[in-house]
Amino acid sequence: MRIALIAHDDEKADMVAFANEHERILDEHDLIATGTTGSRLNDETNLEVTPLESGPLGGDLMIGSAVANDACDAVFFFRDPMTAQPHEPDISALLRICDVRGIPLATNRASATALLTGLDAAIE
Ligand code: PGA
Repeated sequence: MRIALIAHDDEKADMVAFANEHERILDEHDLIATGTTGSRLNDETNLEVTPLESGPLGGDLMIGSAVANDACDAVFFFRDPMTAQPHEPDISALLRICDVRGIPLATNRASATALLTGLDAAIE
C-alpha cells in the first residue's frame, strides 16, 4: 500500500510519536508525506518517507492528486483543529477527494491508530 502522512505544525510531534509507535506496520508500506512532515519523519524515525512539497506550497494537493490517480491507499492527516491554515482550500480538496474515491482517511491519532491496525489486520 502507499500511505500518505501529513501533520500540521502543532500535530507534528504527535505524528512522529505515532510513526514510531507503529514503525513495524508502517515500514511494510510505501510512505509519502508533505514536505516538513516527511523531513521530520525521516529525521526522527527509522522509516523511509518520500517528502513531497510542503503543505502550504501544494503538498496537500499533490497527495490529493495521488488519491485521484489511484496511487494512494490511505491518508493519515493530523489536522490542527485550533489554527486557521493559509491553504484551507487545499485541505478541503484533499478531504473531499478521499471521500469521493473512498480512500480511508484518519484526521487524528486515535482514528489513525484504529485505521492502521485495522488495515494491517485486513492485509494479513
Ligand atoms: P508540511 O505540510 O508537512 O510541509 O508542514 C503540512 C500541511 O500544512 O498541510
